[in-house]
Order: sequence, then C-alpha cells, then structure tokens
Amino acid sequence: MTWRRGVVIKSERELELMREAGRINARALAAAVSVVRPGVTTAEIDAAATEVLGKHGAQSAFLGYPGPYPFPAATTVSVNDELVHGIPSGRRLKEGDIVSVDCGSVVEGFVADSALTVGVGEISLEAQRLIDVTQQALFACIAKMLVGNRTGDLSAAIQGYVEQHGYNVVREYTSHGVGRNMHEDPQVPNYGQAGKGMPLRVGMTIALEPMVLSGGPETRILEDQWTVASRDGQLTAHFEHSVAVTPNAPWVLTTLDDGLDEGILFRYNQYFAGQVYPVI
Ligand code: MG
Ligand code: MG
Repeated sequence: MTWRRGVVIKSERELELMREAGRINARALAAAVSVVRPGVTTAEIDAAATEVLGKHGAQSAFLGYPGPYPFPAATTVSVNDELVHGIPSGRRLKEGDIVSVDCGSVVEGFVADSALTVGVGEISLEAQRLIDVTQQALFACIAKMLVGNRTGDLSAAIQGYVEQHGYNVVREYTSHGVGRNMHEDPQVPNYGQAGKGMPLRVGMTIALEPMVLSGGPETRILEDQWTVASRDGQLTAHFEHSVAVTPNAPWVLTTLDDGLDEGILFRYNQYFAGQVYPVI
C-alpha cells in the first residue's frame, strides 16, 4: 500500500473539489446498492458503481491500486464475514447476506472515499443490529471532527460505541487522511484514547471508517490476497465517509444529503434520538 506522509491541509477550493468527488462517489454507491438483491453477482454491483463514475467523468481511486497485485475493480464488495477489500466476482448474493461496498472517486486529482453495508433481502435482526451499530459508530466519530479535538477522540468514539454494543473493532486497518492521495496522514486507528494524538485543524480531511466484527477482532487474508475476512467466520460490517474539519462543524464530503453540507451537527442528533452526544 502506498501512503503519503505528512498531513495536507486543504484550501476551500480543494475542499469544493473533494465535495464534488464525494457527491459522485455517493451516487456510485447509491447505484451499487440499488442493484443489491438475491441472485445478483458482486461484479454486477461493481458494474453499477463503475457506470456512474464514467458518466460523471470521474476516475476510480481503486482500479489499479497497488497491493499484492493491482486492484482489479472500481469498488470492493465484501460479503458477510468479509470485512473489506473483497474483489467483485461472479459470486451470487443470497437472501440474508450482508454486503459492504466501498468506492473511491477522483475528480481533478482529488479523492473521495466512502463505503456502506446493506442487507440482501430479509436479514436477521442480529445482522441488522451489526449494520446499525457500525453506521452509528461512524456518526459518533464524525461528530468529533471538530477543531480542538484530537485524532484520539475519533478513535475513542468508534471504539467506545462499538464495544459498548458488544462488538469488536478491527486492529490492522485504519481510518486515514484523504486528498490528492487515497491514503494520507493522519492514520487514525479504530481504537484509541480520547485526548491523545494529533490536534484536528481546519482543512484536514479524513476518511473515517469503522470496521466492525461481531465476533473476535482477528482477521485473515483470503487466497485472492486482497480480501480481508474475520478469522472466526462471524459477520462484519463497514461504513465510511470522507469528512473535512471546518471552522464550525464537520463537513461530510461523501453524502448525497446536501443538508449535511456545512456540517450541520443537529442532523446527527436525529440519528441519536435518545442518546446524548455533546454538541460543541
Ligand atoms: Mg474506502
Ligand atoms: Mg478508506
């Protein structure tokens, strides 16, 4: 994996480009999700996302990404125990599966990176709960993307929310800075201590991505050398948004919801009805 060292602060103009990339990425994920049903192949899910990137003139940040061999698709599609980096293939989804789709778009040299997990047809309550907790861990983390906080606050928000619900966070893979490169500093683990780490500054952009395991935290790499799965075969889930620090509030770059532009924190409270999150 390549990693650009040093935290790159983005200008307003650069954030606008990242927002454009993020909007296209969100559309690609929406298209991918729209074809999810029993019987569809993971390659067909990838094709739906790839078509959107092409239609908007965006390049893929994933296709050709260096690894054991260049990544062969525009999305990663990971099913059930597969956590991240699944290679789209002829595998057919079954009723009750859960599937994570991760996509990266490049617009005028700037990358947006986001992911989500959805059910295939009817899924178990247990699977739905895992999906919900993972998504809410992402929101809990986004709410900490504030000037004056530190990267440890992001890590602790994810770990705290996930473990409080009886699940585990991944240890080997992290949230990460994003910009002209898909992976930049700072590296932000899914676990850590509040108040530690690098201070968050205006113009920092981080792809926040809780990767959650319903069983033990250990992972393994499958024979294709890319796919990361839970070692114990238990279900996993993954959500991701690329988010900018602004003077006032988090700015979610990879959403279709324009109401999240300018990072209006009260929106997050809708997702946390009945739970208390400090709005700073
Ligand atoms: Mg991603
Ligand atoms: Mg990422």
